[in-house]
Amino acid sequence: MHLKSLTVKGFKSFASATTLRLEPGITCVVGPNGSGKSNVVDAIAWVLGEQGAKALRGGKMEDVIFAGTAGRAPLGRAEVTLTIDNGDGALPIDYTEVSITRRMFRSGESEYEINGSQCRLLDIQELLSDSGIGREMHIIVGQGRLDAMLHAKPEDRRAFIEEAAGVLKHRKRKEKALRKLDAMQTNLNRLTDLTAELR
Ligand code: ATP
Repeated sequence: MHLKSLTVKGFKSFASATTLRLEPGITCVVGPNGSGKSNVVDAIAWVLGEQGAKALRGGKMEDVIFAGTAGRAPLGRAEVTLTIDNGDGALPIDYTEVSITRRMFRSGESEYEINGSQCRLLDIQELLSDSGIGREMHIIVGQGRLDAMLHAKPEDRRAFIEEAAGVLKHRKRKEKALRKLDAMQTNLNRLTDLTAELR
């Protein structure tokens, strides 16, 4: 599995549709200061579901939409598509190529797609969770992030490792199941009370 291409349109400094083709191995993005190198990395984090504007170096989420320049009007939406080569079947889906799309409008509403079909962010997170590409984005180590990881508290560092290992997904499912069980127990108690009253 490797990232095959990234298409950005209306995202930060990328007003027009721009596609970066990525080959297996190391890819270097070079360019002058302020030319948009970090915006490429932000686009990968964003399409994978990043919800924090700060993590994307903005004040609010709307800041990811192209804000306009002297010669070009602002746009109303940002769209990013990340195509992943799934030739080795690392992602649990019957496609050798998986495209994930996120689209956001100025209203703040986001749409997600897997191979062109609309889906929930949760579907994307579930699809990627065993691959080590998760919500916490350990595949993206930004400037200063490595330092933060090295100095993290042991329990936070454990969470990093658990997510990278794919354990987090099961922990989240367990928490959800326990919450359901709790609600079920409350209903059961109430039913027992009602039955006792009727006797
Ligand atoms: P450096 O080498 O200094 O780290 P960089 O190549 O990583 O720079 P970025 O930080 O990716 O550059 O890009 C910064 C540029 O993106 C700035 O010129 C900024 O004006 C532009 N930019 C960021 N958000 C938007 C937006 N919403 N609309 C238009 N341009 C934007």
